[in-house]
Amino acid sequence: MCGIVGAVSSRNIVPILVQGLQRLEYRGYDSCGVAVHAASLNGASGPNGGLQRARSTSRVSELMDQVQADHIEGGTGIAHTRWATHGAPAVHNAHPHFSHGTGAGAGVYTGDAPLKPGRVALVHNGIIENHDELRAALQAKGYEFLSQTDTEVIAHLVDSLYDGDLFEAVKAAVRQLHGAYAIAVFHKDEPQRVIGARAGSPLILGVGQGETFLASDAMALAGVTNQIVYLEEGDVVDIQLGKYWVVDRAHQAVSREVKTVNAHSGAAELGPYRHYMQKEIFEQPRAIADTLEGVEGITPELFGDGAYSTFKAIDNVLILACGTSYYSGCVAKYWIEAIAKVPCQVEIASEYRYRESVPNPNTLVVTITQSGETADTLAALRHAQSLGMTHTLTICNVPTSAMVRECQHAYVTRAGAEIGVASTKAFTTQLAGLFLLTLALAQTQGRLSDEEE
Ligand code: GLU
Repeated sequence: MCGIVGAVSSRNIVPILVQGLQRLEYRGYDSCGVAVHAASLNGASGPNGGLQRARSTSRVSELMDQVQADHIEGGTGIAHTRWATHGAPAVHNAHPHFSHGTGAGAGVYTGDAPLKPGRVALVHNGIIENHDELRAALQAKGYEFLSQTDTEVIAHLVDSLYDGDLFEAVKAAVRQLHGAYAIAVFHKDEPQRVIGARAGSPLILGVGQGETFLASDAMALAGVTNQIVYLEEGDVVDIQLGKYWVVDRAHQAVSREVKTVNAHSGAAELGPYRHYMQKEIFEQPRAIADTLEGVEGITPELFGDGAYSTFKAIDNVLILACGTSYYSGCVAKYWIEAIAKVPCQVEIASEYRYRESVPNPNTLVVTITQSGETADTLAALRHAQSLGMTHTLTICNVPTSAMVRECQHAYVTRAGAEIGVASTKAFTTQLAGLFLLTLALAQTQGRLSDEEE
């Protein structure tokens, strides 16, 4: 899952979009792209009714060169870095995707209608699980697919549901999507409007002076705005010049708190180090000290109110995590069984969520995730909850994340932003949090003498 940046502004927003992608480059990507509504700026129009696009399988800096050479400018736009899940890394699979085909905006396909140019431009992070069946239905309506992505179905679906109001079309479209998505969409007929939606992939809103932004991570907007709204699961948002509206998963209007977030781009802060991973290795003592700051003794309340009764109620621990976090879970299993004497199993979240398991209501479900947005770990948590396991706790680095919001208890590590792809300080601070958990469990279960404590 990679990067999204979107904006509605009265200035040329292309440099902000591309710089936003540059700030997200550290996550890795195989291709990138940007699309703007040219008519959103001084009424200029482009060859495709105002929609203009550049896509590339090389670096974001080369996308910028391409954008300049092609004079792509606009006040409304969306940009994307892609990690391919469906369809090879190639220009035709890179986002943004446009809707197109004989059905695009034409209602029912007549079989010999001329190809209509696209009306919808869309970027997407995540995976649409029911893309095959949606594609078949859209092909029957005359939509033509030019990529192998799951994403292109969303562009066509929004187009097919459009009846003069993009917000309504996106709300109707997301009802049909199964899977994980963060999307940003604009429409040829609505030059100063971008609609965003999220479920399973992160999306934030940035509130600027007379301009509004969307991004998959506040870091993309560092230096642009520090006024951030974290959208919640199922939210759909309508952004326009200096204003926005959010609806929740039931499509009821909601107001979400605007937070001041001073995200660092990281780029300027490499200091004497050769690369981020080296810098982050050296940051570990600081990160662990920060994580343990304020810990004056072992108590379940380190994990939030009511943790004592939770720790008393459980008789085993199930750790759910992916990647590096799974390895910290493997270390914690040894500690929890050796010190707290509580049976503990560790499962890779993506396996757990799809297999049949035997639920035990007396289990403490512990999720471990740096970002708190790891799609498989969130899905595994929800799966465990749906099986009746209500005692949940997370070790997580991002206090505003979906995982922290959805778990009963949390210990928030303070590793700071980790840019290196191979985890270092995020892993060691997780271990610090997990060791505290081990000791708090041991204490609650009467297995820790004062001397040992
Ligand atoms: N599933 C989409 C694709 O393969 C989006 C991938 C992403 O999140 O970057 O194009």
